[in-house]
Amino acid sequence: MPSISSVAIVGGTHGNELTGIHLINNLAGGIHSLPDSLDYSFLIANPDAVAANTRFIDVDLNRQFALDNLAYQANSLYELNLAQTINRKIGPKDNPRTDLVIDIHNTTSNMGATLIVLESNDFYRNMAAYLKQHMPSAHILVEDEVSYLEHPYLCTCGRYGIMLELGAQPQGVCRADVYAQSVEMLGHILEYVVLYNREAVPEFGGFEAYRLLEVMHFPLSEEEKILGLVHPNIQDRDFAVLEPGQPMFLMFDGSCINYDGEQSVYPHFINEAAYKASAVAFATADKFIW
Ligand SMILES: [Zn+2]
Repeated sequence: MPSISSVAIVGGTHGNELTGIHLINNLAGGIHSLPDSLDYSFLIANPDAVAANTRFIDVDLNRQFALDNLAYQANSLYELNLAQTINRKIGPKDNPRTDLVIDIHNTTSNMGATLIVLESNDFYRNMAAYLKQHMPSAHILVEDEVSYLEHPYLCTCGRYGIMLELGAQPQGVCRADVYAQSVEMLGHILEYVVLYNREAVPEFGGFEAYRLLEVMHFPLSEEEKILGLVHPNIQDRDFAVLEPGQPMFLMFDGSCINYDGEQSVYPHFINEAAYKASAVAFATADKFIW
């Protein structure tokens, strides 16, 4: 079992998600103690976007880490060039020098502390189990609809890569309670990595987790104008069940659109501000015992 020695902790992949930015600066400044058996690097991924307090300058940095994007030669997009620089520094994705990349994000959705993993192998399953044991309020979200290497996320330039998603927090704001959750969550994940390296991970029973199903778009007119809003019954209730036939959108004319799927689903990223441009209202997940 190859151990984890190099860990890159990343914030500011999106420049207006302040928790990770403060956390990286504080980790680099020695304010929080970390297990000393690991070799850390700290990275503010998109400093220009951080300075501008915006998600990105040209394109979303956290969608530029597909292998074909990283292979582009010349281009004028700031974040595409930046992705290649980061990939050279902590990747490269096809042969990573970094064992684990932990990328810290905020969401405006009420998702609490959510660990996003992109593969469902034992390493991630036990990490999630350890986190649930020590931080039961945390949510575990598995996005394994494509393979690890096919994901375009920054964290995939590590041999292992995860995202911490913390909310609800408005863009450009840093809440103390959300910051404290990020410190706690990161601490448990690194405790787990130390146990993994010692081959001392205990056996875990099953625990609740969610698996991404699909994204749901706002109801739009032919001119692509929004015709309704996320229904109040699901607003702020990320990871609560939505049953077939229950209201999903409240239209401006007072009518409702109900969820017409066949199975119970668990909405999350509900009304995420960053997804407004793509008219995504929320994502759905399946709940399972992992
Ligand atoms: Zn983000």
